[in-house]
Amino acid sequence: MNGWRCPDWCARAHHCTAALPGGEHASIPEIWQIEGGRMVGTRYRNRTGHDHIELRVILGLANDEPTAQAQCRHLMATSLMVVRRVFGLHQQSAQDQSPSSARRHRPGRRASL
Ligand SMILES: [Zn+2]
Repeated sequence: MNGWRCPDWCARAHHCTAALPGGEHASIPEIWQIEGGRMVGTRYRNRTGHDHIELRVILGLANDEPTAQAQCRHLMATSLMVVRRVFGLHQQSAQDQSPSSARRHRPGRRASL
């Protein structure tokens, strides 16, 4: 595979960095306006031909801190379930999916989101 040649979906121009060391082909970000925010998906391909997607979700949080933290964790947990299902990833045991286990894996071990 020629890593320099842009696939059909590559946006080229400033989006594509495949010609640079460590660069990638990149699609034009697809933006979905949703209730209360938006989702942004961008597809990438590195020089070895590996594809991946970056998905961002931008949503407003509740004004009270406990609810905002609960919204963040619930979104992350449900997103993880969807990602595992869509990509056929190995399911961890129920013990590994507990909230306390998730906190152990969080960078910096911050107390809140
Ligand atoms: Zn490209």
